[in-house]
Amino acid sequence: MLYYYVLLYEIKETKREGRGAQGAVKHVIDRHVALFAQMEDDYLRERVSDLKDLGRRILAALQEDDTSHKEITSESILIGEEISTAALVELPVDKIAAIVTSEGAANSHMVIVARALGIPTVVGVTELPVNNLDDVEMIVDAYQGRVFVNPPRRLRTRYKEIQKEEEQIAKDLKQYETKDSITPDGVTVKLYVNTGLMIDVVRGVQRGAKGVGLYRSEIPFMLRDRFPGEEEQRAIYRQQLSHFANKPVIMRTLDIGADKDLPYFQIEEENSALGWRGIRFTLDHPEIFSSQIRAMLKASIGLNNLHILLPMVTNVSEVEEALYLLERDWLAVQEEEQVKITKPKIGIMVEVPSVLLQIGEFAELVDFFSVGSNDLIQYLLAVDRNNPRVASVYSHFHPSVLRALTRLVQECHKYDKPISICGEMAGDPLSAILLMAMGFNTLSMSSSNILRVRKAICHVPMTDAQKLLEEVVALSNPLMVKSWMEYYFKHHGLGDMVKSNRMVNI
Ligand code: PEP
Ligand code: MG
Repeated sequence: MLYYYVLLYEIKETKREGRGAQGAVKHVIDRHVALFAQMEDDYLRERVSDLKDLGRRILAALQEDDTSHKEITSESILIGEEISTAALVELPVDKIAAIVTSEGAANSHMVIVARALGIPTVVGVTELPVNNLDDVEMIVDAYQGRVFVNPPRRLRTRYKEIQKEEEQIAKDLKQYETKDSITPDGVTVKLYVNTGLMIDVVRGVQRGAKGVGLYRSEIPFMLRDRFPGEEEQRAIYRQQLSHFANKPVIMRTLDIGADKDLPYFQIEEENSALGWRGIRFTLDHPEIFSSQIRAMLKASIGLNNLHILLPMVTNVSEVEEALYLLERDWLAVQEEEQVKITKPKIGIMVEVPSVLLQIGEFAELVDFFSVGSNDLIQYLLAVDRNNPRVASVYSHFHPSVLRALTRLVQECHKYDKPISICGEMAGDPLSAILLMAMGFNTLSMSSSNILRVRKAICHVPMTDAQKLLEEVVALSNPLMVKSWMEYYFKHHGLGDMVKSNRMVNI
C-alpha cells in the first residue's frame, strides 16, 4: 500500500513540474519499470509487468475521463503517443479527419488500417506535444508527413487549394472503378483487395477488386473484449466470403503479436517483432487455431471460395503441423455438419527471409505463396517497421528487396505455384509497376489504393515496366530507384501518382 502512495506522490510532483496528467503517469511508471527491471530478485523483477499493467489502466482511465466529454466531429484530428488498431477501430472512424502520433512508422499495423479507411495519418512526429493540443487548429499533410500547428492564413489558403486539387484527382480516378487492369500492350494484372473491416469489403467490391488477397482476421478479434467464439467467427467470415461469392477470398489465420495487440491478451516481450507472433502463437494455442479454422470452413459451405493463409512461417515443420490440424478439422466439420466442404487451398506468407531460400520444400506442401512485404522488408533490412528513428532505412525500393522478390517470383514459377503480394508495396503505383514486371500473379492492396494502381497499369506498357525493372535492379541505392521511377511517371502523364505516396514520416 505504501508503495502506491509513493507512486501517487511522484506523479503529483511530476505534474507540478509542468507535465500533463497522462505525461506524469507515464514518466513515473517508466522510471519505476526501469528500476524494477534491474533488480536481482526474480520475484521483484517480475513485478515489472504488474507496474506496466497499472500504468496502462491509469492511462486508460484518464483517457476515458478526457474523451468522455469530447464529441468526435468530422473535423477532429486524433492525436496520441501511440494509438493501437484496437482503439482506432472502436471509434467512429468515418468522422476522423486525420491521425497524428508521436510513435510508430509508416508500416505500423494501425497506419495500415487507417490508410485502408482513407484517413490521412502522420506518425513518428517525435516532438509532438501530445498533451497540449486540445482544441488547437492543425493541418495534417499526410503526403509529406508534416503537421502544422496553428497554421498562418497563407498556409491555410494554400492547403485549401491542395484539397481542391485532391478532390479533382479523386474524381478523375473514379472512371477507373469500371475499367479492367490491362496494360496498353494487353497484359492483364489481377488486383485484389486487403480487408479486415466490412468497409474494406464494400469499397473493394465498388472498386472492382477481383478477390480478397488478404483478410486480416485479427481485426475482428481486436474489436472484442475476449476471444470470439466459433459461431461468432463463422458469422463474420461468412459476410466476407459471401460478398466475394465466386471470387477467391484468402483468409489469414490469426496474426497477433508484435504491434498487433489484443486488448484482452497482452504479450509482453523484449523483442516482440522477433517473438511470439502469427503461426508461432497459434500453434502453441491449437484450440484458438482450430476454432478459427472450423469457423472458416463452416462459413465457406456452399460458397467454396475460401483460401487459407498462414502468417509468419519460418519452418517447414510449422506448415506440416498446421496442415495436420487443418485436415483434422476439415474431416471433423464435414462429419458434424453432414455436408461436403470443398477443401480450401492453403498458402503461406513470405515474411521471414528463411522462406526465400526454401521455396522448393514449401512448394511440396502448399498451394500458393503470398509476400507480406511489410514484414519481409523489416526482416530483410533489419529495420523495425514501427520505429520512427529508422524509418528512412525502411524502403521497398531497396535493391536487395527488389532482387529478392525477382528471384522469389522466378522460383515460384519454377515450381508452378501462384505468387501474390499483399504488403503495402503492392499499393504504391511506382512499386506496383515493378511487381507487375517481375511476374506476380496478383497484387493485393488496401481499397484506397486500387484505383491509383489500376490507372498506372492502364498507362504503363509491360515492355516499359520490364525495361524499368531491369534498369532499377542494377542501381545500388533505394533513393535512386525511387527517383528513377518518379522520373518515368512524371514524363508519362502520371505525375499525380508520384506525390500520392501518402505515408511519410518526419
Ligand atoms: C505484411 O507483413 O506485409 C502483411 C501483409 O502483414 P501485416 O502488415 O498484417 O503484418
Ligand atoms: Mg505481416
